Amino acid sequence: MTCRELTAFIADYLSGDLPPDSKIEFERHLDVCPNCVTYLDGYQDTVRLGRHACDDDDAPVPDTVPEALIEAVLSARSKPSQA
Ligand SMILES: [Zn+2]
Repeated sequence: MTCRELTAFIADYLSGDLPPDSKIEFERHLDVCPNCVTYLDGYQDTVRLGRHACDDDDAPVPDTVPEALIEAVLSARSKPSQA
């Protein structure tokens, strides 16, 4: 698994929807790639911020959160809403 693939799987990993094979690959990559561990931590922080931001649309986003990460979270949040 590459870093790019990991970022594509991250939402499914956190929601538990990742197939077992992919989950093994995902965690194997985390073992060898500190950058992606940091990215995963940042992603989870952003998800928390995103949930909080739902209460207040005007809530400022900290400068430390990369814009690409915010977009990834927003697209992940809008995906499963169609029941
Ligand atoms: Zn990586």
